Amino acid sequence: MGFSSALQGRAAHEALIVRQDAELRLMETMKRSIQLKAKCDREYAIGLAAVAQQGMKTDRADEMQGSLITKAWRSYMDELDHQAKQFKSNAELLEVVCEKLTHLSQDKRKARKAYQEEHAKIAARLNHLTDEVVRKKAEYQKHLEGYKALRTRFEEHYIKSGRGGRKLDDVRDKYQKACRKLHLTHNEYVLSITEAVEVEKDFRTVLLPGLLEHQQSVQESFILLWKNILQETSQHGDLTSDKFKEIQKRIDNVINSINPSEEYREFTEKHKTSPTTPLVFQFDDALIEDIPGKLQSNTLTVDNLTVDWLRTRLIDLEMSVKECQEKQLKMIEHANGGSPIANGSIARNGSTASNGIQSPKDSQNRQSKDLNALRCQEKQKQKLVDMIKCALNEIGCEELPSGCDDHLEQNFIENSFNNDQQNSATSTNSTGVSIINELRRRGGVLTLLRGRPFKRKSTPQPTTPTVNRMRTQRFNKLQPRSQSLGSLSMSLSTNRPLYEEEWFHGVLPREEVVRLLNNDGDFLVRETIRNEESQIVLSVCWNGHKHFIVQTTVDGHFRFEGPPFPSIQELIMHQYQSELPVTVKSGAILRRAICRERWELSNDDVVLLEKIGRGNFGDVYKAKLKSTKQDVAVKTCRMTLPDEQKRKFLQEGRILKQYDHPNIVKLIGICVQKQPIMIVMELVPGGSLLNYLRKNSNSLTTRQQMGMCRDAAAGMRYLESKNCIHRDLAARNCLVDFENSVKISDFGMSREEEEYIVSDGMKQIPVKWTAPEALNFGKYTSLCDVWSYGILMWEIFSKGDTPYSGMSNSRARERIDAGYRMPTPENTPPEMYRLMLKCWCAEAEARPHFDEIYNVVDALIIRLDNSH
Ligand code: ADP
Repeated sequence: MGFSSALQGRAAHEALIVRQDAELRLMETMKRSIQLKAKCDREYAIGLAAVAQQGMKTDRADEMQGSLITKAWRSYMDELDHQAKQFKSNAELLEVVCEKLTHLSQDKRKARKAYQEEHAKIAARLNHLTDEVVRKKAEYQKHLEGYKALRTRFEEHYIKSGRGGRKLDDVRDKYQKACRKLHLTHNEYVLSITEAVEVEKDFRTVLLPGLLEHQQSVQESFILLWKNILQETSQHGDLTSDKFKEIQKRIDNVINSINPSEEYREFTEKHKTSPTTPLVFQFDDALIEDIPGKLQSNTLTVDNLTVDWLRTRLIDLEMSVKECQEKQLKMIEHANGGSPIANGSIARNGSTASNGIQSPKDSQNRQSKDLNALRCQEKQKQKLVDMIKCALNEIGCEELPSGCDDHLEQNFIENSFNNDQQNSATSTNSTGVSIINELRRRGGVLTLLRGRPFKRKSTPQPTTPTVNRMRTQRFNKLQPRSQSLGSLSMSLSTNRPLYEEEWFHGVLPREEVVRLLNNDGDFLVRETIRNEESQIVLSVCWNGHKHFIVQTTVDGHFRFEGPPFPSIQELIMHQYQSELPVTVKSGAILRRAICRERWELSNDDVVLLEKIGRGNFGDVYKAKLKSTKQDVAVKTCRMTLPDEQKRKFLQEGRILKQYDHPNIVKLIGICVQKQPIMIVMELVPGGSLLNYLRKNSNSLTTRQQMGMCRDAAAGMRYLESKNCIHRDLAARNCLVDFENSVKISDFGMSREEEEYIVSDGMKQIPVKWTAPEALNFGKYTSLCDVWSYGILMWEIFSKGDTPYSGMSNSRARERIDAGYRMPTPENTPPEMYRLMLKCWCAEAEARPHFDEIYNVVDALIIRLDNSH
């Protein structure tokens, strides 16, 4: 069905017009779109060219030579540039297409107009004829009516007038004219109808169908052109076109030419090097040059400071090793087609697992790489585990060595022992002669020293009889207090408590213990508290000092590395008699039991009676020695104090044990067999000098006061001669004996040095008694004690007043630095005040030494005595 037959109606004609208008609008829209597309393509071309240009800025360094990936990339970028150009040319072509569309639109517009005109033209003729027919018909009717009227008139006249008369002639004439007019009109009407019929028929059958047919063909030819335009439009945007395809193909080809195994061929050839030389990690021995002994090159230090850390580290490392092993196991399971969990975990760990390009070979490689990494990790951690284990095992049953030393204390103890040893060469006792003599003189303390020696069993021994005899002789020689061999077996069989054994030294601090063990084979047994647990330790001198913790078996026996024994005594005897090393590693053999020194009393030797004072570390008691019933003063150390404090507490005992002077309080012993540790001293019945002065202020005479000063000076002269700096000389730290005699006490802060520099801060310093150079620079000498002695004199003459009363410590310091000195107490002999002032000279060197002080005071007393 074509336009000609289907679209003849008026409505169809109008619709066709409307359709053409719509098509023209569509063309306009398309034109704008195609213009826009061209613009887009042009811009895209510019962008793409920039991309390609950016991509071309690759590293052209030598390292990338031969790289297929670089080559592919450069080609890719080239092609991208081609693409850009292609887009640009497409854009240009689109613009051409756009022009075509414009022309088409113009043509279409013209065609529409022509159609409309043609249609109007053929329709107008028909319309005109139609009008003519109507008009002619109207004329026909008008003439017909005129004819009829004139005919009627003629007939009337004719009848009226007969066949003549002028009137009748007129009427006849008019009638004939009207008749003629009617006949003419009739003919015209007939002709116009005939023409109209013909025209209408032509219009309908020839002209209109012809116009429409033509119109159809015109429109269809437009559509064809339009289609072509669209095809061109589409072609110019077709990314699958051959041009683009070629570009894409070239890109694909060059990318496909990337061969991972070839990629680095040129590079590796060019940069080929010999295998890397291993890095050397070496312990820098220079670090420990100044710390001989404790820290050793490449060796773990296991001591009381590090053991816990090492153990924790060991646990951590062992856990890491286990983790590594578990991970490896999972991996192996997975590799063997194991559980999906293992599978998943590996995939998660892998970096390429998620992008789906990982080949089975890659995955295998990665797994074996990961496995190797884990194996390495395990091996590394295991090495550390072994090292720590080995270090901890090395200690075995040895007690942990102490990580840090108090060198001052050690030096001090060393000196004291050296003295003791010198003395022992001429004495039957192994300890200081003078002190023992003194003890003998005082009658009793010696009896505390139970002379039970450490003896060898007479039962069969693993050693030969000759060796045994020799060892027994040597033992007896070294142990002058030994008894017969028989009593040893007795002593073991009687099952005497360990703490009663002479070679058991209780909780004697380790620092002291090592000073007692001087020759290879010297040994003793002691107790140590670690983590609130008591451990029995065998300390042996053997290439240094070794400390072995007695191990307890499940059935309550005791052992080292050898067989277990029901008692520690038997274990020690076994070690001694068998001459077997305590541990294979240490090789330590027991040769000579070192018995308690005379001042190592047993706690049970002392009966505490009443509290007489309160010291820094604990209460002070009046007590009685069980053996001699002698009254003594006992300073106790609170059990709860840390070990460090306990060591400090014993310091006083260590210092005092070597002094023997009537004006220095005497040490009787220390009780370290068990807690609480105690210092046993002679009881000085008058108690603290400060209290005594205050209590007896009314009755004190100048002579007595001067006597006190002389006693204190005598004691201090003695200390100065021993290079001992007291550092806390004050009335509160002096004791009053019978007949007002004064003894220097409280050696808790004392140091045995000519000069002592405080490095750990100036805590609890008795500021008002302390010399300026000690306060300001921490520098202590005996001349500082001289300053304190001046204050002590002032205390004595003021009968127990507080120095610089009403002044705070810092105020007093300020005033002293500014030159202020306390005024003389009432009734002080001027010479004594002069002496005080000399003691308070700002320049330490300008102060008198105790020797001089003693002489001055002594001379004054003699003068005073003589004057009475
Ligand atoms: P710490 O040195 O612990 O401070 P002190 O030596 O000051 O202890 O002693 C505290 C108190 O105990 C003294 O003030 C004194 O009263 C009394 N005291 C200490 N030692 C003796 C002793 N040997 N004889 C009598 N009383 C003493």
